[in-house]
Amino acid sequence: MKRIAIIGGGIAGLTCAWQLHQLGQPFTLYEATPRLGGTVRTLHRDGFTIEQGPDGWVTEKPWAAELARDLGLGDELTPSNDAGRVTWIVRDNKLMAMPDGMRMMVPTDLLALEGSPLFSDEARAAYAAEPARAEELRAAAPDQDESIAAFVLRHYGHEVLNAVAAPLLAGVFGGDVWKLSVRAVMPRFVEMERQHGSLITALQSLVRRDSPSIFTTLASGLGTLIDRMAAALPAGSVRMSAPINSIPDSDHIILATPAHVIRTLLRGLAPERAVELLPAEASSAVLVALAFDEEFALPAGFGFLVPHSEPSQLLAATFVDQKFPGRVPPGKRLLRAFFGGANGLALTSLDDGALAALAHAELVRILGPLPVPAFSTVQRWPLSLPQYEVGHLDRMTELAGLLPSNVHLLGNAYRGVGLPDLIRDARALARQLTS
Ligand SMILES: Cc1cc2nc3c(=O)[nH]c(=O)nc-3n(C[C@H](O)[C@H](O)[C@H](O)COP(=O)(O)OP(=O)(O)OC[C@H]3O[C@@H](n4cnc5c(N)ncnc54)[C@H](O)[C@@H]3O)c2cc1C
Repeated sequence: MKRIAIIGGGIAGLTCAWQLHQLGQPFTLYEATPRLGGTVRTLHRDGFTIEQGPDGWVTEKPWAAELARDLGLGDELTPSNDAGRVTWIVRDNKLMAMPDGMRMMVPTDLLALEGSPLFSDEARAAYAAEPARAEELRAAAPDQDESIAAFVLRHYGHEVLNAVAAPLLAGVFGGDVWKLSVRAVMPRFVEMERQHGSLITALQSLVRRDSPSIFTTLASGLGTLIDRMAAALPAGSVRMSAPINSIPDSDHIILATPAHVIRTLLRGLAPERAVELLPAEASSAVLVALAFDEEFALPAGFGFLVPHSEPSQLLAATFVDQKFPGRVPPGKRLLRAFFGGANGLALTSLDDGALAALAHAELVRILGPLPVPAFSTVQRWPLSLPQYEVGHLDRMTELAGLLPSNVHLLGNAYRGVGLPDLIRDARALARQLTS
């Protein structure tokens, strides 16, 4: 039997371990902390289900739901409440609704833009003109990677970039549209441009009336994925509180730690050039959940995004009980504030009380008066979201070519940050190693 060492017990390392075990292959999993799951962490308190990290996954990508079913959690799969789906964007401290039918910054229904205060006549005209510019846009598509900002500017101009695309990306990746790679972060839009020129035309041909809800989660919280896999692992195969500094003797090494730790671990295993190819930057996140014992009025929808131009330290907020059913006891409310991006790392050094107070104050400024929360939770995730900068995919191809055949990289620094991508790659690697 091969000896396999897995370093890092987040969703990537743990899924790989679980899959190896399913295939009858022994392994040793080393996790630095006393807890498995990494960024995936669910807290249950006073009837509230509070996601301290990811709160669901994009339904369109099937791999997380497949894993849940394989773990016997099919009954727990819970779609987001899309009937009431509205995403709000803050402008001058006020909430403005994104028009119906928007997919990221691309509208599928041009009529829905009429009357939207989010866009000027100029931005609406840029949207309306895009389908007719299809040939020009297709011809102008560069052969090389480019920033998301350059891509959006070519299609819709500055206003759409700043008012919609930048806050959406910041709210998801804590990222900067001028640095992020469009090919790594928005591959589907790049493909649509290549085929159709116009993104609006491409999306209109895809949108189905019966499209499934946009996000999926587990009724009891995503932590159940972690608990189920952990419970299935054989005794003695997992070393907890075991931070690895030098690589254990094994036939195969699977590195599944965050990118900044990989940087150290990879030295000595691969040429220095491989280390240089890893994402140079990662943004930090702080999540503050505020639980309220009383129900109060909130705008419909999942929550809101905050553009850079606003004088706010928030990137986004989620109206948790409106996004997913069953997270909050009846008659109560749960709000989740997401801080990060350029300010993220500095905020991680504030204490819990200061962060909870900051979250409450920022939410009040945008939503109006709020009751005093029954309790709050604070979770810091320093350097948790690697930034896929322009040229990322080429660098990953080069990196793969430099790794010795017994060294494998899993986790969110390479081929996607979302849970489905990480689960897909982790299971595929386990199958490859046992085939
Ligand atoms: C705030 C936030 C919200 C998110 N929301 C979503 C979402 O809604 N949907 C979605 O799909 N994705 C979301 N993501 C992305 C997704 O959650 C992460 O990309 C994913 O969980 C990362 O998993 P991982 O296994 O690669 O790394 P991690 O979860 O970081 O796990 C790495 C593990 O390695 C361990 N480790 C570190 N150093 C060592 C060492 N030296 N030796 C041994 N072990 C070590 C760590 O302790 C950790 O347990 C979100 C991310 C963040 C930060």
